[in-house]
Amino acid sequence: MSKTSVPPITRTHDNVFWFDGAQQGRLLIQRCADCATLRHPPGPACPACRSFEWDTMESSRRGTLHSFTVIHHPQDPAFTYPLAVGLIDLAEGTRLVADIEGVEPGDLQLGMELEVVFGAHAHDETLPRLRPVPAAATPSEPDGITA
Ligand SMILES: [Zn+2]
Repeated sequence: MSKTSVPPITRTHDNVFWFDGAQQGRLLIQRCADCATLRHPPGPACPACRSFEWDTMESSRRGTLHSFTVIHHPQDPAFTYPLAVGLIDLAEGTRLVADIEGVEPGDLQLGMELEVVFGAHAHDETLPRLRPVPAAATPSEPDGITA
């Protein structure tokens, strides 16, 4: 197997909290400490009030598919192809771009519910991934009942 061409993540003062959260399996959203506006990707100042004061909140990790693309080439050993990459509207109102797993690209539909999970990435890093929300077993479906 050839070596990945994916560069290591560049951690900055503004984004280190986000990558550290991902490493711990937590999806954090930057929040303005003055006006509470949420923002992603992380940045130094609030786009709404220009404040430099911020904290974070933890996302519910649920959202709906806003857009996606399916990548076939060029291929890198760090990924499997075809590679679906989605943009989701998180329940909190910010958006997130991540690889999609657990669904055939041809079955992706805009508006479908997705959840954010975390998985290993190149360079021993951990990044969010998107996958369909597992269907809950319903009482009306006998095969769906588990003892
Ligand atoms: Zn603000």
